[in-house]
Amino acid sequence: MKLFRALVVSLSAAVFAVGVVFAAENAAPKAKPEGNPGKCCVKAESAGKTCDHKCCVEANAAGKNCEKCGGANPAKKA
Ligand SMILES: [Zn+2]
Ligand SMILES: [Zn+2]
Repeated sequence: MKLFRALVVSLSAAVFAVGVVFAAENAAPKAKPEGNPGKCCVKAESAGKTCDHKCCVEANAAGKNCEKCGGANPAKKA
């Protein structure tokens, strides 16, 4: 049974490693808006999702962070 356990552990480690690589590949090409996203968006992102608040979705579609939820956008330069 010890061998089986070792097999399961190494297998789940391999699955985890693949998941991390996939996550990194998916995250890389996405351009994130500058500034700081709101807490809700950070939370959603750390869970591998995007924030589904209407205000955040709209802000993200415009390439911004949602200021309603505490996000910050860099000051516009004229
Ligand atoms: Zn949000
Ligand atoms: Zn929002």
